[in-house]
Amino acid sequence: MSESIQGPRGVRDILPDESWKWAYVLDRAGEIARRFGYSEVKLPIFEHTELFSRGVGDTTDIVEKEMYTFTDKGGRSITLRPEMTAGMMRSYVEHTLGVPGGNPAKLWGAGPMFRYERPQKGRYRQFWQLDYEEVGSESPLVDVEVIMTAIELFRTLGMRNLEVVINSVGCPKCRPVYREKLVGYLKGHFDELCDTCKSRLDRNPLRVLDCKEDHEIVAGAPDIFDSLCDECAEHFKAVTDGLTRLGIKYTIDKTLVRGLDYYTKTAFEVKSGDLGAQSAVCGGGRYDNLSESIGGPHVPSVGFAAGLDRVILVMDEQGCSFGSAPALDAYVVCPDPAARLNAMELMYELRRAGLKADMDYAGRGMKAQMKTAVASGAKAACILGGDEAARGVVAVRDLTKAEQAEVPAGEVCARVAELAGRQ
Ligand code: AMP
Repeated sequence: MSESIQGPRGVRDILPDESWKWAYVLDRAGEIARRFGYSEVKLPIFEHTELFSRGVGDTTDIVEKEMYTFTDKGGRSITLRPEMTAGMMRSYVEHTLGVPGGNPAKLWGAGPMFRYERPQKGRYRQFWQLDYEEVGSESPLVDVEVIMTAIELFRTLGMRNLEVVINSVGCPKCRPVYREKLVGYLKGHFDELCDTCKSRLDRNPLRVLDCKEDHEIVAGAPDIFDSLCDECAEHFKAVTDGLTRLGIKYTIDKTLVRGLDYYTKTAFEVKSGDLGAQSAVCGGGRYDNLSESIGGPHVPSVGFAAGLDRVILVMDEQGCSFGSAPALDAYVVCPDPAARLNAMELMYELRRAGLKADMDYAGRGMKAQMKTAVASGAKAACILGGDEAARGVVAVRDLTKAEQAEVPAGEVCARVAELAGRQ
């Protein structure tokens, strides 16, 4: 016999003991979106490769090393989306979802992303993001609103011990000035840099700033704030003033540059103390030039993506509530093979009455079925054998109090609803 096939490395099955938690978090994410005025866009999972190579940036790790790219049967280069922002912008431009300069179009979405990364705790090759974008506004207050959205999402989920880290990465006017200063400095320390940073020096020197190995060199690097143009400096001040006014605590980290080229001005992350190496639960910022880099008009925008897998890891770690675990209202117990269709009829009736009901299909004995009823978390067991069927009754057992009484068939739904507290 050949070996059974397993899932590919870096991807996971979200199994029943976890999937209900995902549903809970996705519900809360949708609620926050509605409360804050975001509308959902369900984007495709694959796009033209060019969207990401031009949007995210040719020299980023994502585009250089991590994309799942293939040629489809029509000869087109297709990529499984590694992130959602570029797709959101494509959609905004393609369908004219707003007017730049007016109020921003607030768009959100959720779904799986794909990156060929080295798998570890909190880092997978298929992972989910909750993505919130405000497209078409230059106002620093919109940056504040986006950060407020992230904070409120995590607060609603009961997450604690989080830190907002913020920086400005400048704009096409002032970043080249900083880049030049930085490259000059780093060249003076070339021999001390790690191999990855040596190769980054020409292509993407700002990424050296968030290198985990070259701490000491980074600590002595020129300060990006000394190079910001007036517009970027004022924007940053307005964002931090807004956060302060709203009581949203933040830390400025001048080495925060993020792995995507499209960021301008604000870059931010929310980090958790309970995640180990992969500490970011969300990352985002302003991307005023993304639209132009994918062939669209000037559409200044800001947004963030939260990693759903990591959010759930943190919530589990912190003992946060996911609402109540799924449980049945009633389990229909039928020890008599001749009455199984009666049992099925009853189960169907319970379900049509809006109750969660299930039954035994394995033809097991009374004891085994009762055990399953208890394990299912059901509040009631509805015992229906040939004798009960003939008399038009069902024995309804209150599994919480271990009390049992016969109920006329027509009153079973009401009785179960009462026991399940669903009236
Ligand atoms: P990014 O799109 O790189 O800005 O990432 C935004 C968020 O997505 C991060 O803060 C993480 O929470 C999450 N994330 C990114 N990459 C992965 C991954 N490989 N596995 C799990 N979560 C990820």
